[in-house]
Amino acid sequence: MSKKNSILIPGIAAILILVAVQVYVIKDLWVDKDILFDLKYKILSQEAMDQLNRLSRTDGFENALVVLNNYAKETLTDELGRIKSEEELRKLKEEALQGAYKILNELENLSPYLKGYFKRQGSEGDFSRNIEINYLQFLDFDNKLEIYANPAIFRSPNAQNDTLKGKPKSKILVNRFFREDNYYRISFDFYIDFSGKQKMVFRDMAIYLAMSIFSILVVVTILIVTFRNLMEEKRLSNLKTDFINNMTHEIKTPLSTITVAGKTLEIERIRSDENKILETARLIGKQSVHLNQLINLILEISMWERTQFQLDKKEVDIGELMHDIVDSFRTGNNRVVIQEDYSFRGQKIRLDVVYFTTMINNLLSNAVKYSDKDPVIRVEGRENREGIVISITDNGIGIGKQDLKHVFDKFYRVSQGNIHKTKGLGLGLYYVKRIAEAHGGSVTVESKPGEGSTFTITLPK
Ligand code: ADP
Repeated sequence: MSKKNSILIPGIAAILILVAVQVYVIKDLWVDKDILFDLKYKILSQEAMDQLNRLSRTDGFENALVVLNNYAKETLTDELGRIKSEEELRKLKEEALQGAYKILNELENLSPYLKGYFKRQGSEGDFSRNIEINYLQFLDFDNKLEIYANPAIFRSPNAQNDTLKGKPKSKILVNRFFREDNYYRISFDFYIDFSGKQKMVFRDMAIYLAMSIFSILVVVTILIVTFRNLMEEKRLSNLKTDFINNMTHEIKTPLSTITVAGKTLEIERIRSDENKILETARLIGKQSVHLNQLINLILEISMWERTQFQLDKKEVDIGELMHDIVDSFRTGNNRVVIQEDYSFRGQKIRLDVVYFTTMINNLLSNAVKYSDKDPVIRVEGRENREGIVISITDNGIGIGKQDLKHVFDKFYRVSQGNIHKTKGLGLGLYYVKRIAEAHGGSVTVESKPGEGSTFTITLPK
């Protein structure tokens, strides 16, 4: 398993487990809150009914039940006698049930009282009531005439509505009533149903939901940051390995030349020829110098890393300095065409001449190094309100979009095309950036592969 996957997979697994646990806990909490909600209104209803009973000696169905008694009497005496068939009886029973529903629904006084009571207690009073008849019997004195309406057979209009709405569970049972009078016997349930219940429970849950989403977000963020850091570290370690490989290669060449030269000197035939000895000694000397330079370079790199830049700033005429640097570069590279265009008008600026020269030289030598035709370099300089702007444009191989954002990184080298032919340690542009920043400035690059690149340095006045 790659390092990338070895952190990514457990990380995603951890997040999934966390999300699953949170969902489980929230769901459980939701159910608890839902039950608590029902319980609260059940208790409140009970209190309200007790109060109603104490104050008015009624349960809220007094009127309805008196009317129901008359209705039952009429049905038994007027209608039942006319029944001739089973079918007609069935119809009558259904009518009786609907009639009872109508009376109870229209004449009950319990819901307005409950609404008032809930509001007085500072709770929500916006509910719809629902009556379910469980048992209904119309009967006369000697129990001869009888209508028994079984609600299991005759579905109530309310029950029908409920299934249509699909949420029969949101009802809260307030009380089960059982009553009988001269002409009827009835048992029914009184429910209340809060249309905004889900919203109210959700409001109660909001803080837990927010906390749980927040904790998931925190974990995800930590994971992303860790993952990115790890990838960045991996990239840097790869760059370092490349650097060490390059360096080893560079050191090996002079070292093997010296070894071969040493072996040559052991040969007797050579030792007798003074010229050969001199030639070999020179070769050893030259390679030792090269080796020494490489070792110095490594020492320099570690020094650059450890120490802060100690700039030795002097006031200079930037136009003149630029011209001097470009001129001496031109002398060392006579195949190169360099066009200069400055509009500094004698602008003076404080900078460290040695570091500044290194910076411009690095850019100029890259412009030559990374060129596949005769190099033509354009050096421009101007001043603006913030400071001075120097740009170096070449007609070289250019830099791909992917590499553009990394070219200033330490040890970074573009490793495609024919570039690997050129020697380098991936430090030139890193130093350019560090020097520009040490002067309080910056460096940017624009490039199109195959067309060339423009490096722009901005330094404050
Ligand atoms: P080095 O030249 O030692 O590889 P640098 O830091 O100077 O290191 O450059 C980093 C990389 O940026 C180089 O490997 C090269 O691919 C790319 N690069 C730098 N300058 C140019 C340029 N002028 N044109 C095209 N590519 C460039």
